[in-house]
Amino acid sequence: YGDYNQKIDYVFKIVLIGDSAVGKSQLLARFARNEFSLESKATIGVEFQTKTLVIDNRTVKAQIWDTAGQERYRAVTSAYYRGAVGAMLVYDLSKRQSFDHMARWLEELRGHADKNIVIMLVGNKSDLGSLRAVPTEDAKEFAERENLFFMETSALESTNVETAFLTVLTDIYKIVS
Ligand code: GDP
Ligand code: MG
Repeated sequence: YGDYNQKIDYVFKIVLIGDSAVGKSQLLARFARNEFSLESKATIGVEFQTKTLVIDNRTVKAQIWDTAGQERYRAVTSAYYRGAVGAMLVYDLSKRQSFDHMARWLEELRGHADKNIVIMLVGNKSDLGSLRAVPTEDAKEFAERENLFFMETSALESTNVETAFLTVLTDIYKIVS
């Protein structure tokens, strides 16, 4: 009963990065607990959440780290990136600036993380289609050039959230198994 006796085969650390208010915490809440809140609260206290899932008959614990309001450039510490095998690089597709900042978030990530880290570019808030400021093609092009996975998600509507995390986790699994 419960899962406290469950044998864990792998623990994968995933980091969430991107500008403030793009929806990182809500993507995590949606994936880990199937929750969503429209009231933006700055993340406090909790450093990461976990979700255990089965991939290829193995038990994988995803340990997903969320920034605690450190989203200013270069404010995220190297401890945050340490040991990460996956990253979600999140922008808000209704805020052009959050996409324009992806290049420097990526540069910072690559400067700190393992060179084999699996990265997903995530255009969040796809439910705000009428306010779209980032064409899908622009993001696709950036992702292809930088060798990243790419997906548009909505934490609000629960679109592609699980798929985005599962894609990253499955790719990490393929690398380490
Ligand atoms: P963070 O600073 O990147 O962690 O962003 P939050 O997760 O705190 O989200 C910032 C704001 O955007 C909050 O008001 C959320 O409710 C809202 N938000 C997050 N994801 C979505 C989404 O997919 N669609 C919409 N419309 N709003 C979202
Ligand atoms: Mg947050």
